[in-house]
Amino acid sequence: MGANETYFTRAKLSIPGGVNSPVRAYGSVGGTPRFMVSARGAYITDADGREYVDLVSSWGPAILGHAHPSVIKAVQDAAARGLSFGASTPGETELAELVRERVRVEETNSSGQSTGSVQKAIEKIRLVSTGTEATMTAIRLARGFTGRELLVKFAGHYHGHSDALLAEAGSGLATLTMPGSAGVTAATAAQTIVLPYNDLDAVRALFAVQGSKIAAVIVEAASANMGVVPPDRGFNRELAAIARENGALVIFDEVLTGFRVGPAGWWGLEAARVVPDGAGWIPDLFTFGKVIGGGMPLAALGGRADVMDFLAPLGPVYQAGTLSGNPVAVAAGIATLRAADASVYARLDAVADQLASAVSTALGAEGVEHSVQRAGNLFSFAFASTKPRNYDEVRAQQSFRYPPFFHAMLDAGVSLPPSVFEAWFVTAAHDEAAVSRILEALPAAAKAAAAAVPA
Ligand code: PLP
Repeated sequence: MGANETYFTRAKLSIPGGVNSPVRAYGSVGGTPRFMVSARGAYITDADGREYVDLVSSWGPAILGHAHPSVIKAVQDAAARGLSFGASTPGETELAELVRERVRVEETNSSGQSTGSVQKAIEKIRLVSTGTEATMTAIRLARGFTGRELLVKFAGHYHGHSDALLAEAGSGLATLTMPGSAGVTAATAAQTIVLPYNDLDAVRALFAVQGSKIAAVIVEAASANMGVVPPDRGFNRELAAIARENGALVIFDEVLTGFRVGPAGWWGLEAARVVPDGAGWIPDLFTFGKVIGGGMPLAALGGRADVMDFLAPLGPVYQAGTLSGNPVAVAAGIATLRAADASVYARLDAVADQLASAVSTALGAEGVEHSVQRAGNLFSFAFASTKPRNYDEVRAQQSFRYPPFFHAMLDAGVSLPPSVFEAWFVTAAHDEAAVSRILEALPAAAKAAAAAVPA
């Protein structure tokens, strides 16, 4: 028995399912989860001492690659000064300023030329510890601010595991084929209305009936928790317009996309017209996580000052946290954002382009029906000939082809997300050698996918 099996057997005695987050159990791909002991750059090493090219990247944070020297140094320096103070620190303001500085766009006129002025999208920001906390707080804040109760979300979108958001919530639940979660009361579930993604008619129809009761619409900036499913052109902007006409807030969830798909996240790509037909609006609230903490537990919500100032101690909406704005996590976040310059984003985009096309070529060569799903440098593959645009279409794919594909890649030393309903995450440390190892593994994995039969 290898070390991974030994650890898994032991873990299951003390930890439910042997894991602290369900997808890690390899439930939908089968086999023994790898217990990881170290990671550097594009590589991660398991308890058996086997090294893999990593395309999970801690589910997003590691844009610079694992254990980037400047981030490790910042963390070590911060840790040496003390792990947690339970008091305000200068670093929190520095990180808040960095985020405010980044989430901006140069204004352009109708012919696309810069007017010379800059539009910043975030006035105030609060730091919390997880993306779940960020979205949970944003919802409470939206309800407190509007005095309304209903929340709208989209099927297949994941916003963390707070009660209000666990309806048809994408990857983790889809992997386990669960519609929602036990333990969420009917009363809570009834206050969350779930609509099909990319369906503005459904949004309009709902607002026509319930518009005055809706506190907020929460939407993944580009959805990546049912595999990648990008918003239709103009979807986010039109969604915001409908919400606004009805006095509801828009919570733009950039926990996954923020600072990953570009320096100003997905909003930045739309605002700068890199993604067409999305410019000209600013979310009321953003949520961030993952990259903002550079691999440490850190997340945030931010947006309009009048809304954010509804938070305690200024306003009536309560939110707090013993470890909120933790100084070591803040140091990791600052170092990560400072290092994530234009060359980092250029590398992420280039690697994503190369891998997306190589995987597609390999699957195509074996006659495997698939579509490449892209949102900036995020990508995934659906085993379906037409691109899924929503959760129903995602679930209709031939997902039985993924487990053998996944295991062939794993055997060849490439660690993919252990579910077809997840995005693949590249880092700036994925150099030619790492990419070559992935490319070499693809033909056999594509053959395995082609040979797969439904269970
Ligand atoms: N929102 C989105 C879009 C996410 O992808 C996630 C996590 O994957 C979350 C919220 C929850 O973040 P966390 O896992 O840090 O609680």
